[in-house]
Amino acid sequence: MGFLSVLSCAHKLVEERLRAGDTAVDATAGNGVDTLFLAKLVGGSGRVYGFDIQETALARTRERLDDSGISGAEAVTLVCDSHERMLQHIDGASHGKIGAVMFNLGYLPGGDHATITTIGTTLPALDAALSALRKGGIVTVVLYPGHDGGAEEAEAVQAWAEQLPQRDFQALCYRFLNQQNNPPYVIAIEKR
Ligand code: SAM
Repeated sequence: MGFLSVLSCAHKLVEERLRAGDTAVDATAGNGVDTLFLAKLVGGSGRVYGFDIQETALARTRERLDDSGISGAEAVTLVCDSHERMLQHIDGASHGKIGAVMFNLGYLPGGDHATITTIGTTLPALDAALSALRKGGIVTVVLYPGHDGGAEEAEAVQAWAEQLPQRDFQALCYRFLNQQNNPPYVIAIEKR
């Protein structure tokens, strides 16, 4: 049977917590897989914000949403800006009430491999995400130590998660220990 894949693990953790009508964030929209996943969960009465620094990624995300025909696709706001500024774009009434923020780091699959997430913006974005969460809300981060700069970014995110106060947050790491070639892994933070 095997264990859940890393991406399925991130999805499972989110779907166990996110409810219809919630607000959620895809901090790295990319090809839109997570944005669509979140839009399905929150439905037409919820809202999803999707961030990416590449217009190409946001165009692909919009196309995926339009093709999906799901209710909720129209309740997605796509923002071309760096994710550490997410709070400037999210409706003030939702600050502290976000159900889930998903990060999928690295480069756009099928896109420019030189445009990658970096520690200097990823860590402030993670802080912004935690401050936006409601109690019981979750941040998931899929990390890719296999590409140039990816291992340093993954280590920095792990160190950031490890120092979070246990009273306020639960931090989890889901990682395969005997896979070849630096496979991706997930860090998840739940706000208590
Ligand atoms: N979750 C996406 C999907 O379902 O296809 C994959 C995301 S991809 C691994 C990473 C994305 O992060 C890229 O599209 C890249 O442009 C974006 N990115 C890089 N730096 C960013 C930043 N500072 N703020 C927001 N997005 C960023």
